[in-house]
Amino acid sequence: MRLGLFGGAFDPPHLAHHRIAQAAIDTYALDRLYIVPTGDAWHKSRSLSPGQHRLAMARLAFADLPQAWIEPMEVERVGPSYTIDTLRALQARHPQATWYLFIGGDQARAFGSWRDAAQLAQMAQLVVAQRPQPGEELSCHNLPVTVQTLPTPVLPVSATELRAHLARQMSTQNWLSSDVLQYIHQHHLYRSHD
Ligand code: ATP
Repeated sequence: MRLGLFGGAFDPPHLAHHRIAQAAIDTYALDRLYIVPTGDAWHKSRSLSPGQHRLAMARLAFADLPQAWIEPMEVERVGPSYTIDTLRALQARHPQATWYLFIGGDQARAFGSWRDAAQLAQMAQLVVAQRPQPGEELSCHNLPVTVQTLPTPVLPVSATELRAHLARQMSTQNWLSSDVLQYIHQHHLYRSHD
């Protein structure tokens, strides 16, 4: 089995997330890509939308990718979640699998400070999706890890920007799927900007 892990707040899940998932599945011939929304307790700088909403939006956003598996374990876990714990739990489910860990370029720059980063990089092949950040080389600081790059175009979008647009009732220009957008409106999410 070839399995992938793609974590994030997914608040909300947008087109860049979808492109990364699609490219991950295609490029690495994945049997399953675990998409893991972070737990509510994780972000300290702002409060995330409730995990159940982020899970529901992820189910809608990736519904057309049969290999995408929306995994609730971090949302259900009490307290902060670390990727190493999640990967260990998933590995226990599939002890024979080869693992790939997909992260954006911004996360790659911070990867050296992740909990047990060196071990994480041994357990899974790290694959990075480039993110617009002019003048900065792709690297995982302070870590002797081999990084592969996902062949996706650089997509200039972030959930932060989309939340701001939604709060001002501005167009999100097809960066959100119509199902996700409908869910957001139905549940009155992102009415004010954090
Ligand atoms: P926020 O703006 O709220 O921080 P985000 O758009 O960065 O959100 P996350 O849910 O935090 O989205 O991202 C999940 C993963 O997807 C992370 O590894 C992140 O680096 C990656 N990612 C998100 N958007 C992009 C993008 N436009 N290009 C490449 N990687 C991305």
